[in-house]
This record gives sequence, structure tokens and C-alpha cells, in this order.
Amino acid sequence: MTELERIRHSAAHVLATAILRIWPEAQFAAGPPVDTGFYYDVDLPHRITPEDFSRIEEEMKREIKANLPFERVEISRSDALAMAERGELASLAPRNAASRFKLDILQNIPEGETITIYRNGEFTDLCAGPHVMRTGNIGAFKLTHVASAYYKGDENNPQLQRIYGTAFKNKTEMEKYFTMLEEAKKRDHRKIGREQQLFHIDESVGQGLILWTPKGSIIRQELQDFIGGELRKQGYSQVFTPHIGRLGLYQTSGHFPYYAESQFPPLIDRETLADLSAEGCSCADLSNRVTAGEIDGYLLKPMNCPMHIKIFDSQPRSYRDLPVRLAEFGTVYRWEQSGELNGLTRVRGFTQDDAHLFCTEEQVSSEILGCLSLVRTVLSTLGMTDYRVRVGLRDPDSNKYTGDPANWDKAETACREAAKTLDVPFTEEPGEAAFYGPKIDFVVKDVLGREWQLGTVQVDYNLPIRFGLKYVGSDGKSHVPVMIHRAPFGSMERFTGVLIEHFAGNFPLWLSPEQVRVLPINDDPVVIEYCDAIVASLRGEGVRCERDTSPDSVNAKIAKAEQQKVHTMFVVGKRDVEAGNVSLRVHGKGNLGAKNKDEVMAEIVSAIRTRQA
Ligand SMILES: [Zn+2]
Ligand SMILES: [Zn+2]
Repeated sequence: MTELERIRHSAAHVLATAILRIWPEAQFAAGPPVDTGFYYDVDLPHRITPEDFSRIEEEMKREIKANLPFERVEISRSDALAMAERGELASLAPRNAASRFKLDILQNIPEGETITIYRNGEFTDLCAGPHVMRTGNIGAFKLTHVASAYYKGDENNPQLQRIYGTAFKNKTEMEKYFTMLEEAKKRDHRKIGREQQLFHIDESVGQGLILWTPKGSIIRQELQDFIGGELRKQGYSQVFTPHIGRLGLYQTSGHFPYYAESQFPPLIDRETLADLSAEGCSCADLSNRVTAGEIDGYLLKPMNCPMHIKIFDSQPRSYRDLPVRLAEFGTVYRWEQSGELNGLTRVRGFTQDDAHLFCTEEQVSSEILGCLSLVRTVLSTLGMTDYRVRVGLRDPDSNKYTGDPANWDKAETACREAAKTLDVPFTEEPGEAAFYGPKIDFVVKDVLGREWQLGTVQVDYNLPIRFGLKYVGSDGKSHVPVMIHRAPFGSMERFTGVLIEHFAGNFPLWLSPEQVRVLPINDDPVVIEYCDAIVASLRGEGVRCERDTSPDSVNAKIAKAEQQKVHTMFVVGKRDVEAGNVSLRVHGKGNLGAKNKDEVMAEIVSAIRTRQA
């Protein structure tokens, strides 16, 4: 446990202490630290609500102020059981009811394991620890919310109240955390997505299925054009593949039935279903026979790889053709639990920035370098300069990995060496490789310091063998190519969601759905004509530009454009027309004064072309 986790877990003991002071009949289950703080599950007739928090927090403060030591005591199983029977665990004193959850937890501790109890003041709990030295080490804490949870997560068990809180070393750290939360709420891509009409999720279409509305589609298309352009520079070939493929294909690749629970169920054609039902085949039979591969059908594609493999394999290949780099913004479907779905970042259908590189052993290293240089270009253009890399290596003590160990060594070295060239922090994580090859994951930190795992680059020795891929080497013999899967930004959905939060909806000019809005200060025909000429000329250069045609006052027009986060505004009055100027305004920067219209327009066109931040 880290120091912060110890503080948080200790705060859970203090929380239980406080609850018992108010409701002595409370029965406690588990109280671990979590990512954002801690919780304790409690069974209590009184329904705890946020209105109770200040009362509980007062009691907690008293325990902390008393600066009581956390005392560890090893006890025998029989003593522990006796204490639980007397209601003395997760308790201030003996009670006339057993500590029933602690009793159950105790009975599930394997024989021979050391059993410990911890005391802070009058409170005693069954716990393996560790804790901070004294209650006073909990520098700052706050109760945050209540939820309900089944004991051990099993719906056949009693439902408990889960009281959440957070704790920190000191007040400053805690304030920083809550400010960050506030800022994160403002930046929530679901909120901004709704306000700026970037995307829509409609229950009648389906949960986790994204409808990209016109403005969001602009952002996605710009990103795809940008990434696609970089791929072309790196010698990738664009391909398109269908959204469904035969089950057998995914049986060969191993994606079916091994990952069946994360896929949409197979599609079986009508005649087959009719024949089966005439035979009296039950649903269970059908399911078993599909899984066993006895019945053909289709799968909504969970992965693009097998289709790219078939493109590679559609013609004989020589070493002279390699590497073959096939790229596709390929849409795949996964069955995520509905509780896991979240805006653009956890969805059931998404488009990967996918590509598969087929190369020789010798080319693995330079191909990985190429992938990383692409990531660097894209992230730096987007102003995401704070990122790290995780290199997933095989676990040296395991034999679950396919492929020749000598090749693994080479590929791992290639990944490690490539990561070094990025000049960003990287960690090596043994045991984190896929069973078919090592990988590199990208984790970017946004302006709030939150980390987002994007996509990966993975070396694969397995699929080329499963699909019997080969090429003719310079020795005239047949060889198996190595395959690299890479989707460095994960998916367009997730990446866009991360970008919305990163920019807080204030996109750079090149990504802005509306790049320029021209705001005439009145309806004077000379002014309108001048404005329309600007719009026509900018549109001619491919700039997304509109004129505000509303009868509103100029101040109202400006307020509306600012609120809609239009990147650049040209305010035009008669005097501007006479001088050949516009009054320039940039969202977030305010009024930048009168500028020569042709110069400003040229600057805008150039800023968009060079994707200026
Ligand atoms: Zn504990
Ligand atoms: Zn793949």
C-alpha cells in the first residue's frame, strides 16, 4: 500500500468509529482504499444520506484530533472467532449481536494465515493492515457520497450502504483534488458534447452507439485527414473492409469463441435457423453448436486484423514487397456491460485508427520506430506533450507465450530501444506482454494531470502462424512474416472524447467546427456585401466560415459566438469597410483590434494548413 492508500484506509477505520458513536448497532463489512479515496460498507437500519455527513465528520475529527495510535495485535483464530461472536469486531465494545460480516470474512481466511486486529482508541477491527501510525496522520478528509452495494458484490447477499470519502496528507492536497474535480466536471466531454452538439447517443439506436452530429463529424474528419496524411507519408496503404465477417475467420484468429462474452452474438442466416428449428434444435443446442463451429454464421467484427491478413494473403509476397502496411479507420463492435458505458470513452461500436504491418524479423525495429514517430507528430500537433510509454514484456517465468524466445528477445529489445528514442518517460512491465508478442502502450496526461490510456503498438508472432502467412525470402525459401498491430490513438471515439476534455471544447483553429464567423454590426448593404465577400473568399480557401444573419445587436452576436466557442470572429462596421479592415476577435483572447482583412485572412488560411495550435 502506498502512503496515500494507508491514509485513506485508516480513514475508513475512523469513519467506522464515528458511525458507531452515532449508531452503535452498525455492522461493517469491507472498507478498502480505492482510486479516489476509501469506502466502508455498512449495514444499518438508518438510511445514511449526505445530510448525515457533517455529523459523522464531526465525530471523525474528534478521533483524528485525539491522535490515537493504530495498534496491531496478532490473535489466534479461536480468539478472533470468539470476538466476532461477542460483536467485538468493527465495534467499540461487546454487543448483543455478533459481528456477522466479520465472522464470515474470518471464516474465509485460509487456515494457517496470520490473523490480526487493529485498534484505534476504543474501536477494534479485523484487518490485515497496514495503517498510518496514528489517527492524526490523516491530514485532511471528506465524506463524498453514499451508494448501495451487495455484500461481496453478490445480489443474493444483503444490500449494504457504501459510504465513500476521500483523504489526503494535508488540506492543500485535498483542495487541489477538489478543484481538479470541479474543472473535470466542466470539461466532461458528455456535457461539452451536448452543449456544442458534437455527438448524440440515442436509446432508440442503442446504448454505446455514437451518432456523430455535423460538428463532431468535422472534428473526426479533420483528425482522420491529419492522421491519414501522416500515414501516407510513412508509406501506408489505405484499405476498407466490411463490418461483418464469417465466424470461421474469427475461429481461425482465435477471437471466437474465446472472447465471446465481449462480442455481439453471432448472426445466423434465416434458412439455417429455419432448418434447425424444424429439427427441433433448442436455443442451448444452437448456442453450443455455433460455439463448436458446427454452424456457420457471421460476426460483427470485433477486430480488423483477420481481414487485413486476408488482404495480405490475397497475393504471393516476396521479401521485396515487405513491409506491407495496411491502414484502415476500421469500425469494430464490442459488447460492453451497460454499466460500463460512458459517453465517447466506453462504447459498443468504435472506429480504430488501425493498421497492420507485415514485415521481416529485421524490419520489426524500424517499423516500431515509424509507429512511434507518428504518435509523436500527432500528439505534439495537438499540444499533448505530456505522455509516457509502457513497454509490456513477457514474464520470464511463464511459458504461455507463443513464438521463438530468440525472436521475443529481439522484439522486446526493439520495443525498448524504440521507446528510448521518444525522449519521454517509459516503464518496462514484465508480464504485461500479450501472449503473442511484446507491446507499447501510450498514456497521455491532460491539462488536469489526468492520465488517459490511448492505444498500443503490438508485435505479433501468433496470427501469421495461425493464418499460414508466408513470403519468399531472399534465400528463395518460404518464411513467416511478423505482424505489428498498431492503433496508437485507440479509437476515434475515445480520442475525440479525450481531446474534448483536453481542450475543454476550445479547439484549435484547424479542428474548430466553425472556424470564422463574420459579424456585421448593422444591416447596411455595403457592410453586408463586404461581409459576404469575406465569407465567399474564406470558403474558397476551404475555411469553415459563416456570417451571422440574425437581427441581433452586435454585442448579442459576439456573446452568442463566444458562447458557441466559435474560434475567430470578424466584427465589421462601415469604418472597417472603408479601411479594408476587420475588427478581429479570438475566442478566449477577446478583441484584438482592427486588422487589414487580406492579411488576417491569409494568416488564418496558413494557420489552418499548418494545423497551428
Ligand atoms: Zn484496516
Ligand atoms: Zn490487429
